[in-house]
Amino acid sequence: MEENMDFQNILRNSRLKATPKRLALLDILAAEPTYLSPEDIWKKLKERFTAMGLPTVYRNLEYLAKENIIIKVIHPNRQLYYYFCHNADQHHHHFVCTGCKKVEDLAFCGMDKIEEEVKKKLKGNVVSHLLQVFGFCKECSSRSQSSRKKRQP
Ligand SMILES: [Zn+2]
Ligand SMILES: [Zn+2]
Ligand SMILES: [Zn+2]
Repeated sequence: MEENMDFQNILRNSRLKATPKRLALLDILAAEPTYLSPEDIWKKLKERFTAMGLPTVYRNLEYLAKENIIIKVIHPNRQLYYYFCHNADQHHHHFVCTGCKKVEDLAFCGMDKIEEEVKKKLKGNVVSHLLQVFGFCKECSSRSQSSRKKRQP
């Protein structure tokens, strides 16, 4: 866990009020190398804010995601999850392991070719793009490979 993350400042920069609940929410997310569901976060928040309802958690997560303070994971199972990236200053994408829920930085973008295609062939302009890569991390792949060995060709 990173002790010196200045969440107050991060919120202020996005003109969001640094409420105790938002600070706690960021604290919880930043401490995890995995994505969390709103329910997971709610359970943890309830230890500190006993009267807090799940809709409040949803609402605050949306505010934070809209300001790109946290990342919304668009999971193939259609559930919503959230993740706090510690390298948010630099444009990059994420690899999401659906086995252990770990999120890892991809140190590059790799979308240049698509941008080129849009500009050259479609004569359009790129404003933004979304990319999240889903799969199994090294640990999860070796785990599933050893348990599926018999079925491998
Ligand atoms: Zn990241
Ligand atoms: Zn994994
Ligand atoms: Zn990119």
